[in-house]
Amino acid sequence: MKSNFIKEIINKDLKLGKNRSRVHTRFPPEPNGYLHIGHAKSICLNFGLADDYNGGKCNLRFDDTNPATEDKEYVDSIIEDVKWLGFDWGDRLYYASDYFDQFYMHAIKLINLGKAYVDDQSAETIRKSRGTLTEPGKISKYRSRSIDENLKLFEQMKKGKFKTGSKVLRAKIDMEHPNINMRDPVIYRIIHKEHHRTGSKWCIYPMYDWAHGLEDSIEKITHSLCTLEFENHRPLYDWFLQQLGIFHPQQIEFARLNLNYTIMSKRKLKKLVEKKYVRGWDDPRMPTISGLRRRGYTPQSIIQFSEKIGVAKRDGIIDCAFLEHCLREDLNKTAYRVMGVLNPLKVTILNYPKNKTEYLLAENNPEDSSFGNRKIMFSRELYIEKTDFLENAPSKYFRLSLGKEVRLKHAYYITCVDYKKDKNGIVSELFCNYDPKTKGGWSDDGRKIKGTLHWVSAKDCINAEVRLYNNLFDIENPDSEGENFINHINQNSLIILKNSKLENCLSKPDSNINYQFMRIGYFCVDKDSNSDKLVYNRTVTLKDSWLKKNIK
Ligand code: ATP
Ligand code: MG
Repeated sequence: MKSNFIKEIINKDLKLGKNRSRVHTRFPPEPNGYLHIGHAKSICLNFGLADDYNGGKCNLRFDDTNPATEDKEYVDSIIEDVKWLGFDWGDRLYYASDYFDQFYMHAIKLINLGKAYVDDQSAETIRKSRGTLTEPGKISKYRSRSIDENLKLFEQMKKGKFKTGSKVLRAKIDMEHPNINMRDPVIYRIIHKEHHRTGSKWCIYPMYDWAHGLEDSIEKITHSLCTLEFENHRPLYDWFLQQLGIFHPQQIEFARLNLNYTIMSKRKLKKLVEKKYVRGWDDPRMPTISGLRRRGYTPQSIIQFSEKIGVAKRDGIIDCAFLEHCLREDLNKTAYRVMGVLNPLKVTILNYPKNKTEYLLAENNPEDSSFGNRKIMFSRELYIEKTDFLENAPSKYFRLSLGKEVRLKHAYYITCVDYKKDKNGIVSELFCNYDPKTKGGWSDDGRKIKGTLHWVSAKDCINAEVRLYNNLFDIENPDSEGENFINHINQNSLIILKNSKLENCLSKPDSNINYQFMRIGYFCVDKDSNSDKLVYNRTVTLKDSWLKKNIK
């Protein structure tokens, strides 16, 4: 990983011999949704740091402290996603819920220190009495409870004597603290709800600020990386650990990844799924890791993207065209070149014998000869792309029109001699002649041909459904619209073509392979495919709008 301000902090710590010169990070998702590309950045950062330092380690930890929103489905998806990105946590997979007993003991210690109390006020009242940036908070009348009374009440809270939301345990810090997070924050609340791992053992659950530092401390994390919105929580993180006198990791904040034309909040992504605006968490339009995977993104492209955007101390929005640029750079090296006609137009080669077929040689990747060659069938009847023919073509149009000659990739030169229209007046078939002396798509008489078209043989192609994707939102920053983000879903974010014709080699698709359909884009097979129907996703087009904007 290239140098960044986090590495500078770590290097300094190592020089001082802090933590016996260990580097130990963690990736701590809450299993309340699927991971998105922002999480991927955090994964690459945390696991990347562990890789960069000799003997460095990175834990995968589920921050599963809220039974109301969490679920095993999310745990499983997170494990799959981190694995798919290629990161290895070894035997360091942890669950915050395994620490519930320790959290509880630490809370008792805090009460015994006179630093925590049970408050009977409602969550609403507590929120209202916290004050503002200019006004101090109001002291709760329960703040002066004795240590013994607090111990007794807290135990009863744990035993389930009280209703959900009827009492909380709060830290006793300072209701006039300039940092509102320090105004007696809640550390435990009552939720009578089954937890996906601890069942009904607990009915009190720790708040994030209380649990997170303890989790880091228990796991002896040296550097606890989190996003910028937690900067104001750091004094609290430090306060808890100081009071308890336990191992004290260093919290370091970095900027969240934001991408334009999409959203990065799990809650909002969940709304898209639940209200069926998309077809699931792994809908290829989603910025989730599972969506990107289904769309055809490679782990390498996401890792490269994370590396190239680096880590910043200030929030910003990254152009999604840059993510696509990183994807193209990878796919250009690794994709198999094939031909697929999205919107087919029939072509009959009049001077090609009726029953003849022949096989032509095509290279699988011009960037890398180790991909080898394949044979593609040529026959009298072919398909080309509808948009590759114009009745009234302007002079700069190098594709087919009446009397014009073009090259069919890997095959022959053909000239259009006639065409036919259907009853709606739409061109429905072309009639062409081929030049047998141009086999392979080359002529030795020096004749210059500007247009090269992709095609498939009508005798040797397969039908497929092809799904084209565009940005999920039609404005750059849908997140700034609050809950109205829903009103900005791009109505053309999914285009389904039902009658595409693809080269026969795509009939047995390999879900581990990315294909480039020449001239059209990169594609991969979709999991909706079955023995009756093949579905391909367009991962990304060939046109790199980021390069165009950024490299003159
Ligand atoms: P969301 O707001 O999407 O729900 P979160 O921060 O609540 O995200 P967590 O499951 O708590 O989600 O996040 C796990 C880790 O991933 C945290 O360390 C968090 O800082 C990091 N993370 C989450 N979103 C981003 C992002 N957009 N960019 C970088 N890191 C992120
Ligand atoms: Mg969170």
